[in-house]
Formats: sequence, C-alpha cells, structure tokens
Amino acid sequence: MKIVVLGAAREVGGSCIAVETDSGKIALDYGTKLDGEMQKLPTDFDAVIISHAHLDHSGSLLSLSKENPLLIGSPITRNVTGDLLRDMIKIQNEKGNFDFAISHAENIDGCWHTGDSYAIQGLKIQLQSAGHVAGAKITTLQSEGKRIVYTGDFCFHDTEILQGCKPESIPKRPAVLITESTYGGKVRPPRYQLINQLLKQLLFTMKRKGNVLIPTFAFHRSQEMAKRIDSAIEARILPRYNVYTVSNLPTKSQDTITKINRCLLRKLSNKTILSITSMSSTFIQQPKLLSRPL
Ligand SMILES: [Zn+2]
Repeated sequence: MKIVVLGAAREVGGSCIAVETDSGKIALDYGTKLDGEMQKLPTDFDAVIISHAHLDHSGSLLSLSKENPLLIGSPITRNVTGDLLRDMIKIQNEKGNFDFAISHAENIDGCWHTGDSYAIQGLKIQLQSAGHVAGAKITTLQSEGKRIVYTGDFCFHDTEILQGCKPESIPKRPAVLITESTYGGKVRPPRYQLINQLLKQLLFTMKRKGNVLIPTFAFHRSQEMAKRIDSAIEARILPRYNVYTVSNLPTKSQDTITKINRCLLRKLSNKTILSITSMSSTFIQQPKLLSRPL
C-alpha cells in the first residue's frame, strides 16, 4: 500500500491524498489552494472520496470532469459542491482566465455515489459524520487487511445546527490515521465566551440603530451564524432585527441543508435569512459606520 500526499501537507488548502493498493487507487479529497489556483493533480483514480463541500477539499474536481470519475460523498456534499463549483466558475470567468464552464460542473453532478458505505475492487469505504459542516464525513478505508482513517476537517462539539463528531464512532487502532491539523496547536477561548462577546457587540450596535456586517462562508457558517442570532432574538437577548445575506449562495445552501436535514441538531428557521432581493441597496453601498470601536 502506498500513500502519497498531493496537497495540504505543511500548507493550508488543496487537500488531496492518494492511496494506492494492490487493487486500486483512491483520492481522499480533491481540493484547490486557498488562492483558487487549480492544482495539477493526477486523474487516474478509481474513486475520489470528498470529505465535505468546501473548495479546499473539492475545488479541483472540475479538472476531472472529462474522466467521469466515481465520486463518493454525502448527498449534502454532492449538492453543495455543485453549487460552489458553479460559483467558482462564475467568479473566475469574470476575472477572465479560467478553463472551465458550467458544462464541466454538470458533468461532475452526474458522477456521485452518496451512500455511507461502498466496496470497490478489494477496498471497503465507510463514511462517518465529521461534525465540521453539514454532510462532512470521516473516511475509513479497508484494504490488504489494513485500516486507514482520514478525518478531513472535523469538530467534536455540537454547534448551533450540527451535532459534533462522536469520537467513539471513529474506528480504533487504524494502521494509518491521516488528520487535519490546521488549528491543532491553537488554544481557543471557550465557545460560550466567544458567543457572549458576539452577542454583546451585536447588541451594542443594534441599540445605536447601526448595521453589522459579518463576513462568513456561504455554506454552513452563515446558516450557523443566522441560527445563533435567531435564537438570541427568540430568547429576547437581542431585539428584533432583520438578518440579510449578500448573495444567493447561502440561501441555496440553506435549502439543501434543510432538505437533507437528518444530520441537523436543530432546524433552521426559514424566517431568519432574507435574500439580497429584499435588502436595501443603500445598506451595501453606504453602511453606517460605528463612530467608536466596540
Ligand atoms: Zn472545511
């Protein structure tokens, strides 16, 4: 058995690990670098397992579109990856120098197998919930009597909308454990402290009739943030306020997550996120700035 790290070792982004066994060759993730650069990755894989939809784990799939690859991942990963790839194509083509069109993303849409277990040429593949974002999975490969566990991004604690990964569900004593370690050495303040800090700052601004811009990923993070704010409004910690998103992508992701919601801890509220169409354009062009720091 041979394991080759093709991306994301000693760097952030571009996750791709090749696992070659006597009977086949598998890619664990197929991502792009954070600067959006499409990697020159090998294309001769029998299957590509995508841990979750974030582009640093899935964004190079467009370069496989002519190969009709066998892609393995959850239904949410399949749907949201399709949306994010289309978004990347749109943005890169606006910049002018991109080799891919929507037809490439459409080819990728038809290549998915979305079950939690799969057997291919003497290799067993098992997926378990990773708790990182909706649909994220930890992969266990079994071949040649050995077990390899690949975590992708994972999260052990529950968040606003998603149950954390259960450590006891991860297979014990694998021959090889390949794990994400980007923030592994970082000690962060407890989550409740960060949430309290956020709510305090929101309240400060709301009381002064100000606006708050929160930069967040379109997929999962914006839904999580909206749910947190919605819960605080419901609990009367915050006053009633409209929450808007500035692109259609979060609304699309919310629909996907809500439709395939078995993994969700709490239901998303449909009333929380309003689409950009109902948002005053003056809000974007002339956000009211706070006169003093929070
Ligand atoms: Zn991620």
